[in-house]
Amino acid sequence: TFITFEGNEGCGKTTISTKIYEQLIEEGYDVIQTREPGGIEIAEKIRELILDPEHTAMDARTEALLYAAARRQHLVEKVIPALEAGMIVLCDRFIDSSLAYQGVARGLGIEEIYQMNQFAIADTMPDATLLLKVDPENGLQRIASRKHLDRLDQESESFHYLVAKGYDEVAKLYPKRITVIDANQNVEAVYADTYRKVKEVIDH
Ligand code: C5P
Ligand code: MG
Repeated sequence: TFITFEGNEGCGKTTISTKIYEQLIEEGYDVIQTREPGGIEIAEKIRELILDPEHTAMDARTEALLYAAARRQHLVEKVIPALEAGMIVLCDRFIDSSLAYQGVARGLGIEEIYQMNQFAIADTMPDATLLLKVDPENGLQRIASRKHLDRLDQESESFHYLVAKGYDEVAKLYPKRITVIDANQNVEAVYADTYRKVKEVIDH
């Protein structure tokens, strides 16, 4: 079972997916936790390349292609083998990030980014996606105290509003796959809502 976690800056994806991972391990499930861009060496290197704060000259299409390249390698090396071995794969970010960030916020178009990613993923889609939705002003406040801000964290406030709008559009396109979770709530409530949905998916 392939489950992805999505959301804009400061939504708490990593915190929540880590808690879910630990809980499922405790319950005896065969599960791995991974992330995009990254998760394996080649893709982590691509991540560094994309997120380096010095790389302000990176073109939007170059960026979109690099995310797709990292996605491809991560799928082939890690996600698909785990799924074939019958494991549950929990992944921070996947194609919906590209649709929201590159498709909408960078203005490259959802359809164009979807087509380009089709080439990369060749039909491996998540069984379910949890979209943690936080108001951008809340999310940005949450990340403000972080020591390390990557190039994208340092984007303008209007960029982060566009990302949120992008996710809303993507959620409307895939209402069956994507479950929207209110991530303005406290961590316990966000976790409870997410856990309920994850269990529904894996025990269906
Ligand atoms: O979720 P995480 O913070 O690890 O993501 C790394 C960065 O990559 C984020 O700042 C996010 O804004 C950016 N990103 C992006 N487009 C994607 C995926 C991630 O701009 N498709
Ligand atoms: Mg970040």
